[in-house]
Amino acid sequence: MHKQLFIPGPVDVRPDVLAKMATPMIGHRSKDCTALQQSISEKMQQVFQTKNTIILSTSSGSGLMECAIRCCSASASAVFSVGAFGDRWHKMALANGKASDKFSVPMGQAVDPAEVDKALATGKYDLLAVTHNETSTGVENPIAAIAEVVKKYPDVIFCIDAVSSMAGADIPVDEWGVDICITSTQKCLGLPPGLAIASVSEKAYERAKTVPNRGLYFDLVEIYDKVKKAYQYPSTPSIAHMYALDYQLDRILEEGLEARFARHAEMAAYIQDWARKYFALFADEQHLSKTVTCIANTRGISVADLNKELGARGLTISNGYGDLKEKTFRIAHMADYTMEDMKKVTAAIEEVLGL
Ligand SMILES: *Cc1c(COP(=O)(O)O)cnc(C)c1O
Repeated sequence: MHKQLFIPGPVDVRPDVLAKMATPMIGHRSKDCTALQQSISEKMQQVFQTKNTIILSTSSGSGLMECAIRCCSASASAVFSVGAFGDRWHKMALANGKASDKFSVPMGQAVDPAEVDKALATGKYDLLAVTHNETSTGVENPIAAIAEVVKKYPDVIFCIDAVSSMAGADIPVDEWGVDICITSTQKCLGLPPGLAIASVSEKAYERAKTVPNRGLYFDLVEIYDKVKKAYQYPSTPSIAHMYALDYQLDRILEEGLEARFARHAEMAAYIQDWARKYFALFADEQHLSKTVTCIANTRGISVADLNKELGARGLTISNGYGDLKEKTFRIAHMADYTMEDMKKVTAAIEEVLGL
């Protein structure tokens, strides 16, 4: 039996979208493939609210996170981490031999823009990396306010991890001046995992050209050049994903971004209210994610047992991430889910726990 996924990626994919993955193959150097890539780029620019260049990567989102921090920092990067995914970005920098400092906050808290100002004012950093939506803690960082700070430092490349929020929350890339904004297919976009997408500014590209040892598969300069020149890629992309993505983007734009964000906000508010009633929210009330809710296990239930019982009812939620495994549990409200789905999952939890 398929269990409906309420985990923060992968999410359930609509059957019509999934079916597009089975479209017959075309040559990746063909005009048809160029047209497909161009179509995706133009629609994706609308979702990202940007005029910047859209690049696709046949990898998960982590691939482009590593690409960004490796290719666009020459001196040192500042990674503002509020959880597991911010920590990973910092580890990626170090694993590539790059100088990088991590700035952390207690779990469940958000980045303070004043701290970003303090760090960048040292003049030590040429790249800033921040998670927009921290999936491990259910925190949404105040990127609009951070963006105001970053505007004072035009030499800093501003990178955002929007893996678990792009297409579920309002992320105006150009208004915020984000140089590299990264997402994956398996979260709010509602597709299978396997493709990553980023918007890349001219400024990020120019910086990358000055950075040595960018590697090959994730060389931002080479990818950007090929996309700019002919909507092509250095290596063979997942054409199956591209078919599904192109189709799904039509559906997303048909729904309308405003309506899509409103649907996500409504589902988030519902799950948050439910969590406050029966448990508590793990994240700071001022910075709650619109796409995933992290619930503090104030009743001391066994999250593993709960999930087992939910599984028998055809549903799966997520346990806490890492150290938070039994201390929290998470319910995703992203992609194509509806209020009906949310009510189904909370009703099932209430039934299992006898609430
Ligand atoms: C899922 C996730 C990632 C990792 O993305 P992959 O596509 O699995 O590589 C990074 N950051 C955040 C915030 C995520 O939710």
